[in-house]
Amino acid sequence: MKNSKKPGSNKKGIPPIQEKCSFCGQAYHPSILIQGLSGTTICSGCVSLCAQMNGKGAKLGQRKPFQKDELIKKLLSPAEIKLKLDEYVVGQDRTKKVVSVAVNHHYKRIITPIHKDVELEKSNILLIGPTGCGKTLIAQTLAKILDVPFAIGDATTLTEAGYVGEDVENLLLRLIRAADFDLTRAEHGFIYIDEIDKIARTHNNPSITRDVSGEGVQQGLLKMLEGTLSNVPPQGGRKHPEQEYIQINTRHILFIAGGTFDGIENSVSRRIGRKQIGFDAESKNLDELGLGELLEHIEPEDLMEYGMIPEFIGRFQVNCIVKPLDLKAMIKVLTEPRNALIRQYQTFFQMEDSRLEFTSEALEEISKKALVKKTGARALRAIIEELLLDTMFELPALKKPVNYVITPEMVKGTEPIQPVKEPSAAACKRAS
Ligand code: ADP
Repeated sequence: MKNSKKPGSNKKGIPPIQEKCSFCGQAYHPSILIQGLSGTTICSGCVSLCAQMNGKGAKLGQRKPFQKDELIKKLLSPAEIKLKLDEYVVGQDRTKKVVSVAVNHHYKRIITPIHKDVELEKSNILLIGPTGCGKTLIAQTLAKILDVPFAIGDATTLTEAGYVGEDVENLLLRLIRAADFDLTRAEHGFIYIDEIDKIARTHNNPSITRDVSGEGVQQGLLKMLEGTLSNVPPQGGRKHPEQEYIQINTRHILFIAGGTFDGIENSVSRRIGRKQIGFDAESKNLDELGLGELLEHIEPEDLMEYGMIPEFIGRFQVNCIVKPLDLKAMIKVLTEPRNALIRQYQTFFQMEDSRLEFTSEALEEISKKALVKKTGARALRAIIEELLLDTMFELPALKKPVNYVITPEMVKGTEPIQPVKEPSAAACKRAS
């Protein structure tokens, strides 16, 4: 036979590597693992999906590959992003503005062909502020608005490669899972790293001992934050040499890190006090400045003093302050966001053909109680849950409809919660 090779095959009769995965149609990607003799290729995403399907019979070809065009179509202006954030996140106005611009730029940078003169740098976001004031909520909501995969990781679980704990690549695995193993989608998603302040250097002299859960992890994260081809073990856990990896490019993944940086305000006030930066004679003195205002003056040197290494700080070009929530903001958190807590509880009561109302004084009392706990808005749910527990327990068995108006006395526990005949619209503030 003169020519037994298929057209396009090489000298040994092996077909050339295809440009696309034969199953999902995604363009060639370093993650293509297997090529069959007939030239069929399958990418790691489809291999993993096969493993997950477990006889459920889904068709691989039905996976809708992620397209850049989708991003272009979906790209919202900073003002549009901020408007949507407003629906979910109370206050934090400046931060919402800053992250809206940062996220818009992030995706502009991805969809714009490489510019001749100017290299558009990647800018990850660092959110600093007390617990329960919306850091995770902002990151989560941004991902929801842009409809991109989102994963949350906790910096405290990470250790330097080779030590007991999680490898930094596990953050990427979470994102790949969130993207249903569609690697291209994952490569355009968000990763929120919580408690980033907990990987601060534990001692000031880096040469004394190895700092495997502090500086070591910061070092380990550097490449990923900047953009690299990362090898991710598909099963999670530790890497080992015989393993197959999912390869993912982190160049377009937006990393948002959040931390409380407890006590960093001391370093800020020391520095401000020393240099008198940003304060004129009429401005408040240091003692009068609240935590939120002090945090606004954070500089990279404060983060360094806290134990973050300069290279790590340098990977977060956008730093934002999430301020503590005051009483007014707490009341708003209860009633204003799209899925405000009060609305959620009212929906439960509606499902039971009943009505639940709160007087505005009751809402204030709940918020005051929450402020004492110093865990931001996080305490609100626990307080309401405790307050309504018995009522919610008994409600299904009662003759309907049943109406309740929650008063401050009930919140304080000095009066029991009892059904009322008909909640008067004038007497109680409806949280809707
Ligand atoms: P953290 O700042 O510690 O990341 P979260 O964003 O997880 O806090 O907030 C915990 C919960 O408190 C959220 O799920 C949300 O219900 C509520 N919450 C906190 N801050 C806000 C806010 N600014 N606006 C609306 N809800 C908030």
